[in-house]
Amino acid sequence: MSKIDLSGEAAQVAHLRRTFDSGRTRPLAWRRRQLQGLRRLLVEREPELAQALHQDLGKPAVESFVTELGFTRSEIDHVLSHLSRWMRPTRVRVPMALQPARARVEPQPLGVVLVISPWNYPVQLLLAPLCGALAAGNCALLKPSELAPATSNILARLLPEYLDPDAVAVLEGDADTTTALLEQRFDHIFFTGGTRVAKIVMAAAARHLTPVTLELGGKCPAIVSDGDLRAAARRIAYAKFINAGQTCVAPDYVLVESSRADELLRHLREVLLEFFGTDPIASPDFGRIINRKHFERLVGLLGHGRVHVGGRSDAGQLFIEPTVIVEPAEGSELMDEEIFGPILPVIPVAGVDAAVQRVRAGPAPLAAYVFTERPDVHRSVESGVRAGAIGINVCAAHLAVPGLPFGGLGPSGMGAYHGKQSFETFSQLRPVFSKGTWLDTLRVVYPPYTRAKAEI
Ligand code: NAD
Repeated sequence: MSKIDLSGEAAQVAHLRRTFDSGRTRPLAWRRRQLQGLRRLLVEREPELAQALHQDLGKPAVESFVTELGFTRSEIDHVLSHLSRWMRPTRVRVPMALQPARARVEPQPLGVVLVISPWNYPVQLLLAPLCGALAAGNCALLKPSELAPATSNILARLLPEYLDPDAVAVLEGDADTTTALLEQRFDHIFFTGGTRVAKIVMAAAARHLTPVTLELGGKCPAIVSDGDLRAAARRIAYAKFINAGQTCVAPDYVLVESSRADELLRHLREVLLEFFGTDPIASPDFGRIINRKHFERLVGLLGHGRVHVGGRSDAGQLFIEPTVIVEPAEGSELMDEEIFGPILPVIPVAGVDAAVQRVRAGPAPLAAYVFTERPDVHRSVESGVRAGAIGINVCAAHLAVPGLPFGGLGPSGMGAYHGKQSFETFSQLRPVFSKGTWLDTLRVVYPPYTRAKAEI
């Protein structure tokens, strides 16, 4: 258990608040400098960051680039190219009764924000929210996950070299550290993680009436109807088994029309062979489970159905083979909890309507995917399913489009970010209304309320 030093956390937040109150984080030039610094860090320190990610999660370098370092760079580039426009006030039409006057909305920074991140994409999920926070002119306190210690350490060491150290601070630690931190008042809390901890964070935020963004998880379904099932199998397997299945938007399970189930299962078997070979433990392209606790939880899930492909594991290497399970036990942990590992249950269903009913019966997932070339099937999934996002013939890729807001719904999250949505999440969209005194048109509504005024 880490020792809590409340005064340390309070002093750190107070320091960030002094920086914010000085006004130096507001100008476009300061914001751009921070974003450029963040980008430079990702370019210049790419080998060290990739090494830390490999140490924590066995991430292959290409995966680290695509899903963490390159991904965050693209997000920064997108924000840099639009920021000055986003910062501009927007004029709003004034109703005739209030004219002559002017109305505008001007984005304002919120103040000092707290970003709490998980271990599965420990660079992206710390730095992409930070990109939004800095773009909006805030100071930020970052709490990386203690379960990815190599990445947490390197970011804590490097960030002050690349960013204004009076405006961005990193506090490393576990639940105790975070508990102490949550005693402090922040102007916004951006949390990525699981629903259990999200409730703790939201309850702590409520004590200060601090608004929260919650980026959570859930069981994302992939509904397979028709079309090229080989392509579907590749896209499902890629999104499922990247980062050894430890991805919030990974397809958690597949619902396939029963007439196509055998064909899909055959393709999944062949695609896994194509991706990782006959002995995936020897593949340099497949990651590892974060720790022993999660490894044991996942090994326990392997028994909740019949293994169609995969199923082997190695505790010494925290390796679980990419696994497809058929006939999963309904009501088991495999089918009721977010899997968050390389195990994919495939369930035949009577048709798309049955699949939609099944998804609707559960909590709203972070994303729902459908594989079909038929517009009526798109439409019935889009109108029937409640989810943070819909992917048609592709899984997880929506989050790489910076123009799309990324977030969940209900138990899968609250609020959203990426691109302009990040800027707005970390801004107050402040209305300003101004009217000259030279023509006092408002007089018509002042008391006394004569009959003539009531008839206006
Ligand atoms: P977690 O909720 O256990 O931890 C997240 C953060 O909260 C960590 O920094 C941790 O130190 C801190 N924390 C842990 N216990 C705490 C407590 N009692 N009080 C205060 N803070 C505490 O999540 P995780 O295991 O790191 O990540 C996995 C979860 O995150 C999955 O459910 C996954 O779906 C979700 N996730 C969501 C997204 C998204 O973008 N929506 C992305 C990645 C992961």
